[in-house]
Amino acid sequence: MPILNKLLRIITSITVAAGILAGAETAASASSISAAWILEPAKQTLTNSQPKQKQSSSRQRSNNPNRNKPRAKAKKVNRSGKRNIKRANYAEGMSWVHMQKKFPGTFVLSGSRDKRKVALTFDDAPDPRVTPVILNTLSKHRIRATFFIVGDRAAKNPELVKRIIREGHVIGNHSYNHAVLTKLPLPQFQQQIWKTDGIIKRIAGVSPRLVRPPYGEMKPQQVAWGKQNGFTVVNWDVDSEDWRNNPSSSRVIANIKKTLQPGSIILQHAGGGDRQNLSGTIDALPVLIEMLQGKGYEIVTLPELLGKKAYR
Ligand SMILES: [Zn+2]
Repeated sequence: MPILNKLLRIITSITVAAGILAGAETAASASSISAAWILEPAKQTLTNSQPKQKQSSSRQRSNNPNRNKPRAKAKKVNRSGKRNIKRANYAEGMSWVHMQKKFPGTFVLSGSRDKRKVALTFDDAPDPRVTPVILNTLSKHRIRATFFIVGDRAAKNPELVKRIIREGHVIGNHSYNHAVLTKLPLPQFQQQIWKTDGIIKRIAGVSPRLVRPPYGEMKPQQVAWGKQNGFTVVNWDVDSEDWRNNPSSSRVIANIKKTLQPGSIILQHAGGGDRQNLSGTIDALPVLIEMLQGKGYEIVTLPELLGKKAYR
């Protein structure tokens, strides 16, 4: 009988350990959503983000697939009652690293580490206050970048979308109204993608292959649908954190340096909410370009970095 008891104890401890692992993964997923800044809360399809949450999110670290959240932090996230997404993510939840393994070539966080190339990506374009300034700097330095377009913003600023294309940059789909896609049933999710796809096609005559979900969050079945329909989901491995607390240009550069390496995909923003001040991003850009080139990096578009076609 003592042997049987011992066996039972072993089984119990294995079960507990598995539970802890599952909890940590969920926490990583939950905090990655809360870390992202909110573009236009009123426009979100489903939103329960409040300023208070933004505040508490500043304590969380952002979407970095290289970071694992300890169990203690998982509890903290849970108690703050953020967004009520934790429960949903528990069922669906899959860390970025797992998603990358499950959908190789379709859910992407970086390019090849073997070549000294990096890609600059700008989300939440087009924004007449910020995007033209970014374009001017890129043009001056003869750098091409990738812009992730929000459908309703594109509809309001078609000339800016045309300009992005005309100046040799690549555009990708960033949903119709910056919705939290993981909150949407499949038909509404598809609508977010197709509506934006149609607007971009009408304005610029192209059908983007690249999709970046707002906050980097997408459910496995949504990624699977994307794959079937010829889309590639591209997140990032370097977060400039320019969305958080209106950082100075030196803070933006310092944030980028933290995880920069060959093949990196760098997240910045070319548009923001009404209270968003992206002067840090704007001022950092010339310095960033020179810093990257000084380190021997070639700055390329995402399709170049990933060896994929830009458009379907
Ligand atoms: Zn965004």
